[in-house]
Amino acid sequence: MKGKRMMLCLLGGMMLCSGCAARREQAQQMLQQQKEEDRYDSMTLAMDTVINTTIYDERGEELLLEVEQEIQRLEGLFSVTKADSDISKLNANAGKEETALSEETYALLKTSKEISTETGGSFDITISPVVKLWGFTEEEHHVPSQTEIDQAMALVDEDQLLMEENNTAYLEEEGMAVDLGAIAKGYASDVVADLLRQEGVESALISLGGNLACIGTKPDGSLWEAALANPLDETDYVGLFQVSDCFLITSGGYQRYFEQDGKRYHHIIDPDTGYPAESGLLSVTILSEDGTKADALSTALFVMGLDRALDFWRNSDDFEAVLITEDGRVIATEGAAAVFSFEGRDNDFTYETVNR
Ligand code: ADP
Ligand code: MG
Repeated sequence: MKGKRMMLCLLGGMMLCSGCAARREQAQQMLQQQKEEDRYDSMTLAMDTVINTTIYDERGEELLLEVEQEIQRLEGLFSVTKADSDISKLNANAGKEETALSEETYALLKTSKEISTETGGSFDITISPVVKLWGFTEEEHHVPSQTEIDQAMALVDEDQLLMEENNTAYLEEEGMAVDLGAIAKGYASDVVADLLRQEGVESALISLGGNLACIGTKPDGSLWEAALANPLDETDYVGLFQVSDCFLITSGGYQRYFEQDGKRYHHIIDPDTGYPAESGLLSVTILSEDGTKADALSTALFVMGLDRALDFWRNSDDFEAVLITEDGRVIATEGAAAVFSFEGRDNDFTYETVNR
């Protein structure tokens, strides 16, 4: 008798549970449907690029506005072309006086100097006079003479960017200048991702030019898919990343360039030569949980070229990379290869994985 009652109880319990599970599943489906319906998109121009944001959240409209304002605020601090930005003031005061900066600009300059040291100078924000000389700052392109390059290169020296007390900095020589173009968008993606996470957003994507911030997962819990561009054909891609919660940042010679006398000149400068880097690479994509670093490293590893870039990766533990070479190789570090698929891609590239 006792045993029977227990069985009935158990059965009752099971039925209750399966009823619960069905209701839970139904509730989850409704929630997911709601999340997918709560999709908000925006496209704006800022930081010299197109910014696309997608947020899945019922407060999406208001959050999109916050994201936009935040990016504009950062552009106001870091721009090299807006006269009242922190960076423009620092550059205008070069060789004259110290400049008081916001805590954020000061911190980003410090991070930039650290990455310069780590990368043996492949990343160098004092490259600005050379970037300007080639006409990439104002988009007035020009192939400089060797004399002009030598003169501009004499002003490139990150040791002469002095970080002083109380958030002040000083460029030691007149004509020196810094340009955060290779790191500011990555920093902005970190700031915006933090903002959205703090607001409890579980599903969002922000693309700042070639810089992608993935927040959480897709609303149905599956991974985000991001295409790796074919550097030889804008309309094609060489593979797909499947990721959650990370930054995916690409630098390539195909992104901003001009042509003169049949030769292509791009915007990533080798600080050793003063010329657009000719390292044998077409693009470098960095995957990392640190957007700022990912941006700086995508530029630095592009300058380094394949062998040095892979050595650098082997000595680091906070990023993974996919490098595409001029001779048609797509080379993924093991951590990147784990989230990268090129199944079904029909192209002339060969695919390789490198281990530590
Ligand atoms: P994008 O801005 O197109 O995403 P990058 O992140 O590679 O590309 O940044 C390139 C920009 O960084 C250039 O336009 C220039 O302002 C600056 N820059 C160029 N070469 C270097 C370098 N070696 N180190 C640091 N900054 C650089
Ligand atoms: Mg960069």
